[in-house]
Amino acid sequence: MGQNGCHPTGRAGARRGQQQMGDTVTSTPDRAAARLRLMAVHAHPDDESSKGAATMARYVAEGVAVLVVSCTGGERGSVLNPKLDRPDVWENITEIRRAEMDAARAILGVEQAWLGFVDSGLPEGDPLPPLPEGCFALQDVEVAAEPLVRLMREFRPHVVTTYDETGGYPHPDHIMCHRVSMAAFEAAGDPQRYPAAGAAWQPLKLYYHMTFSKPRVLALHEAILSAGLTSPYEEWLAKWEDRWDKSDRITTRVPCGDYFPARDDALRAHATQVDPDGFWFQVPMEIQQRGWPTEDYELVRSMVGRTVPEDDLFAGVRAMVAAR
Ligand SMILES: [Zn+2]
Repeated sequence: MGQNGCHPTGRAGARRGQQQMGDTVTSTPDRAAARLRLMAVHAHPDDESSKGAATMARYVAEGVAVLVVSCTGGERGSVLNPKLDRPDVWENITEIRRAEMDAARAILGVEQAWLGFVDSGLPEGDPLPPLPEGCFALQDVEVAAEPLVRLMREFRPHVVTTYDETGGYPHPDHIMCHRVSMAAFEAAGDPQRYPAAGAAWQPLKLYYHMTFSKPRVLALHEAILSAGLTSPYEEWLAKWEDRWDKSDRITTRVPCGDYFPARDDALRAHATQVDPDGFWFQVPMEIQQRGWPTEDYELVRSMVGRTVPEDDLFAGVRAMVAAR
């Protein structure tokens, strides 16, 4: 990342992965792209590999610097891979998930930082149990945003991605990830806010992930059926209610089908969190690449105007950065 002159100088209250920022961008095929930076804010390790992973791998290949921010360590996640559902895995889940994140980060070619908060867990039951003391979702948003503001001011992203107001998935950490991302995006460029967190830097665009849309699942379902295969989406679609669908909010479709294999490899690296024989890996790659070759987003903040629909998270940013 040295080519863009951004070297982090401080600790954000964030704990970085073993690989330090600056070590991962090794080629710069496009001089303008080499100065571009993307920050993807996620709740848990594994979320970066299931939401926007192919987009990140594509931009890395173009020479964009990509930093994944993991708000929590996933300490209260379940073991979702039956082959690893063992006492020794449950006992060491925090360390194992950290190692899984290291592997996924290397596959995607991204940099990664831990924000340092503790997983809130997914409350289950009726009534729902209280959230555990000290967890991420119980933090004050203004306080929890500070380490993210610091990271934004260090890494200086042009584009930030996060979850929508529902979290995209009703996990308290995903909703908190949204709140903290929005608060940090609004504050990072204001020198009056968080004056101890570094020199102000205003990211230019902010997006929500919108890949899990009904039209996409339907397109994949139909592509699978027309190939004469059994669709794993049958039951999902039957239970889908229209109110869940936010596809009318999509502004941006990033072509990234060539990077779906990297996305799947990164997801499999989170071995405790996915069943390699499960649902996610049943759809043949060629059908996915033909059936829906994009990852989709909603543009929600832009300091560089708004020309949608678009197919590039850096639309409007490239020209501005190149001119500087
Ligand atoms: Zn998550």
